Order: sequence, then C-alpha cells, then structure tokens
Amino acid sequence: MSSKTTGLRHWRQRVSALFQDHEIFVRTHGHVRFLRVSAVWQKRVALIAGLVLLAWAGATLAVLVNQLLTADERAAVAQQQAAAAASEARIAKYRDRVAETAADLEERQALLESVAETHFGIDPSAVPAEASTKADGHTATSTVPIKTSAINPDLPPEARVLARLEARQEAFSARLLAAVRGRVTKAETAVAALGLNPDALVRSAAAGRGGPFIPYRGRMGKAKALGPSFAALDGALFRMEVLERTLVAVPSGNPANVLMMSSGFGYRRDPFTGAGAMHAGLDFRGPIGTPILAAAPGRVSFVGVKSGYGNVVEVDHGQGILTRYAHLSGFTTKVGTQVTAGQQIAKMGSTGRSTGSHLHFEVRLNGEAVNPRRFLEAKADVLEVKDDARQRVGSVAAARGAR
Ligand SMILES: [Zn+2]
Repeated sequence: MSSKTTGLRHWRQRVSALFQDHEIFVRTHGHVRFLRVSAVWQKRVALIAGLVLLAWAGATLAVLVNQLLTADERAAVAQQQAAAAASEARIAKYRDRVAETAADLEERQALLESVAETHFGIDPSAVPAEASTKADGHTATSTVPIKTSAINPDLPPEARVLARLEARQEAFSARLLAAVRGRVTKAETAVAALGLNPDALVRSAAAGRGGPFIPYRGRMGKAKALGPSFAALDGALFRMEVLERTLVAVPSGNPANVLMMSSGFGYRRDPFTGAGAMHAGLDFRGPIGTPILAAAPGRVSFVGVKSGYGNVVEVDHGQGILTRYAHLSGFTTKVGTQVTAGQQIAKMGSTGRSTGSHLHFEVRLNGEAVNPRRFLEAKADVLEVKDDARQRVGSVAAARGAR
C-alpha cells in the first residue's frame, strides 16, 4: 500500500465525516415535525454550490484571459506601427535617392539641350532618337542599345523609370558623340587638305587666340560623373567647333569675277625695283571698277589707305583668318559690316604701288601671309565639308538670332 492511497482514504473519510445523515426536530404550534437531511442530499447541494463557484471562477478567468488577449493585440498593433515607421523612413530615404537621381537627369538633359542648341541650332524637343545614327564615320558607338535588362529589377518601379531614362540619356549622348566625332574626322581631313594643321588650330583656339566664335567650353566638366560619353563630348564638340568654323572662315570664294591671275605668291622680281621681293598675295587683273567680293563670310575690320597698298579693305573671318584687298578704286562697305561670301565690298583700281588696274589679294593666318591659292583651288570634297559646316554654323547663328 502506497502512502498516496492511504492519503486518499484519509480525505474520503474526512469528506464523509462532513456529510452525515442529520435528523432535525422542528416544533411548530405544539406539533413536532421531523426533518431528515440525508448525506446524499447534502452532497448534491455541495456539488451544485461547487459548480456555481466553478462557473463564476470560469467567467472571471475568461474576463482575465480576454484582458490578456487585448494586451497581446495591443502589442501586435505597436509592432505593426514600428514596422510602418521603419518602412516610412526607408521610403523617405528612397525618395531622397529618387530626387537625387531626378536632379542628375535634369542636369544632364539641360546639358544635352544646350549642346543641341549651341552646336546644332536645333530645338532639343524636336530631336528624334535616331537622328544622329545617319552620321557617317564613327558609327561603331552609334547604336548603343538601351540596356533596360541591366536595370536592377529589385528597384521600386519609380526608380526603374528613372534608371531607364538615365540609360536613354547615356545612349543618346553616345550617339551624339559618334556624330560629332564623324564631323571632326571629316573636318580634320578637309582642313589638312587646305594645308592647315588641325591640331595647331585647336591648340591655338584653346589658348584663346582662335577668334571670337567659339561659343562655349568646359560646361561638360560637371557632368563628367554622369557618364563617360558626356565627358568625351566636351572635347569633341570643341574640336568640331574650331575645325568647322575654320573651314567656314577659309576664303575659298573668288575675290573678283576675273579669271587671270597675273602674279603668283612668293619671291618674284619687284616690278618697281627689279630686285627679288616677297609677294604676299595673288594678283587679279581686270578693268577699273570691277566688283571686289568678300572671299568668305566675316566682319569688315579695315577700310582705308595703307602704305604701298593704296586703298584697302580687310575682312576678319574669325579663327585668326583675315583677307586683304588692295589697290582699290572705291569702297562699297564700311568697318563693322558683316558680309557674306561673294558680297561686294569694293571696286578694282590701281592705287598705291600699282602698275595697272588689278586686285592684290592676301590671306593672313594669325597675322602671317599664306598662299591664297590653296583656298581658292579647294577641291570639291573639301568644299562639300565646308558647306556642311557653314550650314551647321549658320543654323546656330539663325537660332540665336531668332531668340
Ligand atoms: Zn600683288
């Protein structure tokens, strides 16, 4: 026998002792009544009381549990709020990034638009995406695909849109760069064919001696962090401007509608002294009053008399190029006038050291006399490139004039 069984019997005995049959005598008005309260009945009453007590305890417990559950819910809500706050902070951070990216994109767009306007005289909003692929020469980089697959798919949709825009801008500037490089290559060839050194011209222009027509330089510097083609675009655009504006400035137009060139450029016998002398230009023989025409577009920089030359007109074409027309009998222009190629500026004559009616025509490059023949006898392919350059520079000037 274990002690547990002994304990149970002991409790049973104690409970049984509580519920014993009781007999109660009740005396009312002389009658005695006898009430018997059995142990079984007592046990039933005790059981009911116990059940009621249990029900009450259960209800109390339920309320308590309910309260505990509400606390749990409150904790859950607090947790959700904390998560939302963290996500809001993340979103705010991401918004900052989006704003930053958008600002970069805007800056780049402004640079691209200024390039289109400054160098091509075109309304940037009117540029079709495929326009620059027509440019010949360097087309290797002109078909840079928009690498939308390279865009991180984990990015939020708004950021992906910006990333795609950025890729498109980079692709566009790469195409632009290819087109500009194509023009540079052509201009280099044409400039070299005219006996000029392209690198020397660009160096001279970079040093600020190349004339007044280079519209801008170095604005791409701040965009260097924005993409490799943007950085390269700066130098390419400057080179294109210098070389093409030099081509435009080259005096390849006939200064007079007369065919004969009576004297060549270089050392010859001086017609007055008979001694060897440097002849710094070409002579065109014709009747007095023959119209003298500007050999290239430019600004009239001198009208008057120069010792030995007689009546002289000088036209500054920019890029360090100047033409001089001498021995004139009259002027049809004045200092400061913008002239086009072929526009009349004077009349042929025989003033100064002249033996008869003729035009003495000089071309000076950075002050030094060069043989005009190479410009006047420029080949058709060179003239084609020159005309292309003239159209571009002209459209820029027109766009500027329209504003
Ligand atoms: Zn001469």
